[in-house]
Amino acid sequence: MMNHLINQLIQYGIQEDILNMVDRDYATNQLLFLLKLDHFEREEITESIDFFSVMPTILTEAYNKGLIPSDSIQDFDHFEAKLMDALMPRPSQMEQRFRQLYKKAPVYATNDFYRFSQKTNYIKTERIKKNIHFVYEGKYAPLDISINLSKPEKDPKKIALQSKIDENNYPKCALCMENVGFFGDENHASRSNHRVITLTLNHEKDQWGFQYSPYSYFNEHAIILKKDHIPMHVNVDTLNELVDFVNQFPHYTIGSNAELPIVGGSILNHYHFQGGKADFPIEKARVLREYKVRKTKVEILDWPMSVIRVSGGSEFKVLDVVTDILNAWKNYNNPDLNIYAKTNDEEHNTITPILTIKEGKYQFYIILRNNLTTEERPYGVFHPREEYFHIKKENIGLIEVMGLAILPGRLMKELDEIKKVLSQNHSIDQFPDLEKHEAWIETMKKEKTSEENINQFLYNQVGMIFEKVLEDCGVFKAEDKHEFFRFIEKTI
Ligand SMILES: [Zn+2]
Repeated sequence: MMNHLINQLIQYGIQEDILNMVDRDYATNQLLFLLKLDHFEREEITESIDFFSVMPTILTEAYNKGLIPSDSIQDFDHFEAKLMDALMPRPSQMEQRFRQLYKKAPVYATNDFYRFSQKTNYIKTERIKKNIHFVYEGKYAPLDISINLSKPEKDPKKIALQSKIDENNYPKCALCMENVGFFGDENHASRSNHRVITLTLNHEKDQWGFQYSPYSYFNEHAIILKKDHIPMHVNVDTLNELVDFVNQFPHYTIGSNAELPIVGGSILNHYHFQGGKADFPIEKARVLREYKVRKTKVEILDWPMSVIRVSGGSEFKVLDVVTDILNAWKNYNNPDLNIYAKTNDEEHNTITPILTIKEGKYQFYIILRNNLTTEERPYGVFHPREEYFHIKKENIGLIEVMGLAILPGRLMKELDEIKKVLSQNHSIDQFPDLEKHEAWIETMKKEKTSEENINQFLYNQVGMIFEKVLEDCGVFKAEDKHEFFRFIEKTI
């Protein structure tokens, strides 16, 4: 049976352009070693192979033979990635392939690399399919909401402490180059089947890596990382690096998370960007005010967070205006609105910059951020309020800023339980996980809803909270828009 499965896996590799025919015997022998087999017979396989009907059987057989230490998902993943690595090109060969396609068109190179990352199951397509997606017709624009099963929820306070832990680890963090080919352990995901393409950005030759996110929050969700493990920062270089990236990959949107705890993303200790080929809700935002300056268009958007869009055909002119906004914001104070650039030498103001090219024009989205904490708001004055933590307590990063919610996987089960409480009169006490949702459930009970539309009703309620979460992160609230206008008018 194993003999047939290996034949099928090899055929899958050839069929999906993962394995070169020349390497067939070599790859087969790698698999035999990993599966502790010393005999093999080649079979002619003509049918198309479905990865998900072959690989799970191989893994179960390997586990039964004692080759996988436990039946945890993690141990199975590590072993699977190692098996796939036996079929895959070396990182340098993958780079060569990417570069050859890039010469024809950047989109050919990314299409191939993305497909490759899916077909090797580095991007776990079957698991991602189980995520829930829906659209919430919000007051600013339709917001995309997703409940993501594949990534664990992170506590903002733990994120701030992470850098100390990382120093003693190998690889130091999930984004370090040393992950390429790493088997994986309790602290590190399987990376035997991981490939990273070398890039040059802003004249830093070969100092950058391009890879896809295994969690794939949106279409072609890519990560662009500095090869050195250095902390996040947002400055003029960052803006130039983003511009250089879209010059090389004009079909991708790219952005950087802020570098400060609370308002930054979930990885603060490794400098990286995120991008991809997707349209985000923020692009549909209405314009509150528009200015034409220095051959650029500067727009203040009607968005729950404080967003400025700077567009223009010249990267230099756009960069000039964006740099001025960044510098002005870093020093902006407005005590009436609780905005302090610095307290005790600690900086609080920063931005989340996002860049895309639309109709031949650079479009920079600048989201103003501040991470001040007070006694009343220990998690952050411009962070989701604690009453919303039952839905979202993590940092609001660049993906969510753009109107795409990444909500924790636990919600899938909890929403199902809430449905039972609301529409089938189950008692909340039956479900220990629902304790944190109690106040919310009580308010929802007052609203009339039938069993048929309970799903839509709940999705709406979740979407409404996500919109409020974004509003909490806005530094200029709707009622303070005139202050926002004044800040921009003084700056540009
Ligand atoms: Zn790192």
